[in-house]
Amino acid sequence: MPRHDYYHILGVERSADAEAIKRAWRTVARQWHPDRNPDDPDAARRFKDAQEAWRTLSDPEKRQRYDQLGMLYTEDGRPPRPDEVSEVVGSLLGNLFKRRPARGRDLAARVDISLADVMKGATPSLSVTRKRVCNPCGGVGTLPENRRRCATCAGTGRSTRARLLRSACWHCNGRGWTAVQVCSACAGEGLCATPETLRVQVPPGVADGQKLRVGERGDEAPGATPGDLFVSVHIAPHPTLERRGDDLVLRVPVRFRELVLGARFELPSLDGPLAVALPPRAAAGHTASLTGRGLPRAQRSGRGDLHVSFELEVPTRLTEASEKALDSWFDALPPDAHPRRQRFDAAAKERP
Ligand SMILES: [Zn+2]
Ligand SMILES: [Zn+2]
Repeated sequence: MPRHDYYHILGVERSADAEAIKRAWRTVARQWHPDRNPDDPDAARRFKDAQEAWRTLSDPEKRQRYDQLGMLYTEDGRPPRPDEVSEVVGSLLGNLFKRRPARGRDLAARVDISLADVMKGATPSLSVTRKRVCNPCGGVGTLPENRRRCATCAGTGRSTRARLLRSACWHCNGRGWTAVQVCSACAGEGLCATPETLRVQVPPGVADGQKLRVGERGDEAPGATPGDLFVSVHIAPHPTLERRGDDLVLRVPVRFRELVLGARFELPSLDGPLAVALPPRAAAGHTASLTGRGLPRAQRSGRGDLHVSFELEVPTRLTEASEKALDSWFDALPPDAHPRRQRFDAAAKERP
């Protein structure tokens, strides 16, 4: 019994003439020939299927018998066994349910946004190529003028052969007609790849890598609901601000003098420049937390905080004059200028 539809195996229409079948057989045989696919069991199986399809479809008498019996056809003409009949019934019923997908395929895309977009939310535009129901053929895969009444079921679409099946005509799949030529716009698929531009709503506080669902903007499917589009959000790194959940961290390299004497800074934030004071004698790594200057909290009200971290930058280059000046500056310091170091030195001397 055929494992698959012989016409499908050779890739020809049911109405194909002997010449077209011969051409198709040569192409398929070349593709799956064992010499070209050594040690490939899948290719070997396909080649064997193609040989079987060719033996039957190239013989007018066998082909006629196959056209009438379909999956119940046997090459040697023996009647099918009961278990074979029930297998075919099972697969036909399966096909009835499988013929149309319930939904179109979901699609994936990505958008790139900035940290400022996370602050306010954004509606970036996005280009996707989605499959849409073919306009010329309405998703059927054949233009109306290229459909011929099915000879097997006389256009009823119902099986006439095997009474017990009482199911769709196997020749035309229950449509009552067969195609003599597939739709050229969609190559018979019923769907056409269509580029589209759409805008996506990115909510404030969105996380990096978060997937946003855009309902029914995936592939269409004839007679079914379109799939969904899943857009993953990528946030470009900000030149100065780092994100930590809803909070932001700003690392400011400060000079020794600024740490010792204090300084006022005008620092970048997502609300524009912020005046921040560094108090005199601050420790290296001193952090100022600005409440509510972080990112909006996703699905909650309020905002996170902005943590400004002042990090000491030691000079990497000194001139001879600056080195001397630094030396004399240290010499002029009172002895208790560095109390922690003083305590450490004392403890180390006591217990060497
Ligand atoms: Zn039919
Ligand atoms: Zn079409």
